[in-house]
Amino acid sequence: MKEHGIINRTMHFLVHNGFLFTVGVMGLVHIALLFIMWASGITPLVQLNILSIVVYIFCVILCRTGYIMPVYISILMEVTVYTVISTYYLGFRCGTYCFLFSIVPIIIYFGTFLFEGLKRWTVVLALVLNFATFVTLYLLFSDARPVYEMTPAARSVLVIFSSFVMVFSTIFYNTVYIYTSEMEVGKLEKRNEQLSADAREDALTTLLNRRGFLPLIDELMKSGDEVHFCIAFCDIDNFKRINDSYGHDAGDEVLRHITHMIKKEMNGCDICRWGGEEIIILMRDHDMAVAKVKMEYLRRSIEYSPTVFFNHRIFTTLTIGLEEYSSVYSDPEEIIKTADDRMYYGKQNGKNVLIYETPKRSPNPEDSGSYAAEGQEVY
Ligand code: GH3
Ligand code: MG
Ligand code: MG
Repeated sequence: MKEHGIINRTMHFLVHNGFLFTVGVMGLVHIALLFIMWASGITPLVQLNILSIVVYIFCVILCRTGYIMPVYISILMEVTVYTVISTYYLGFRCGTYCFLFSIVPIIIYFGTFLFEGLKRWTVVLALVLNFATFVTLYLLFSDARPVYEMTPAARSVLVIFSSFVMVFSTIFYNTVYIYTSEMEVGKLEKRNEQLSADAREDALTTLLNRRGFLPLIDELMKSGDEVHFCIAFCDIDNFKRINDSYGHDAGDEVLRHITHMIKKEMNGCDICRWGGEEIIILMRDHDMAVAKVKMEYLRRSIEYSPTVFFNHRIFTTLTIGLEEYSSVYSDPEEIIKTADDRMYYGKQNGKNVLIYETPKRSPNPEDSGSYAAEGQEVY
């Protein structure tokens, strides 16, 4: 685990300091080459390596000040010039052409960050020029006598060293590239999760919204004949008056407070902000008898628990319509509609009540339009 952490932190550092790391390694490579050339007595290449080291010192300063494009160009130019001159002095067999291949991953990796859209053709152009340089060097120097003849031992060291630089560069930039891609995919996945949560959640209360809630009921209804659950449709009473008296922010605070109360009392239930001040509770594995007791307890708790908003104590009540699922319902909206109708009946009959039966229409035509309040519980 700990090792993983160290690897992750190292990769993170390299991804964010890629240019600085590259420039640092290039400088070290030239220090090593300086030593090889000095030991072999090849003065022009000793001088050339000193010049290259100076270039990379400037590149470090440019990296620190954020001028990345000149660093990119400097690396490409320096490596190309160095390869050409060293091949001229030492011949093709000394292997310094490997340095040309070592910058291929650098051209691609940093190029894709630096250039966007059609400008990415610059990367292709750089790769073509790189390959053309190699072919030219091959044609010019593969059979030519070198200016300096290195000892076989020194040449072996140089060939192995330049091949190592090429292989290291290929492995390193590919690894960093894979890691960067994984990081980006991880970020995208997180953002997607957040977006889909946002699409299912209400921002103010963090309750489910309709889109997140309806599929839950749908799923339950389709899960078999044995399923039983209840739906409670709650509406805050006189909510508009709270907004008008204390302001919209106070209204928001009331919504948050009531949400908190419902979450606390109805722990384990799915809760949805259906509309402005309407909240629906899905009680799985509840029959009407149990749901009734719980909802009545909730109604009372809210009645006696005011929202504290600055120096105000705002008392609010709920009107609740309750319905138990049965096979007459084939669609989530139908059972919600029944609970909503019961809630509406409660509104018309005093508010702050729990209604758990649909009131029957009176058989007396003179009373048509009025309801017998069976099942209404006013405490
Ligand atoms: P009733 O007792 O009949 O339900 O009356 P009411 O005032 O609660 O209901 P009405 O439908 O008349 O008004 C609801 C108000 O809720 C109107 C709207 O401005 C307010 N509202 C809706 N969403 C929000 C919200 O997110 N924040 C706040 N502060 N108010 C909201
Ligand atoms: Mg209301
Ligand atoms: Mg309402």
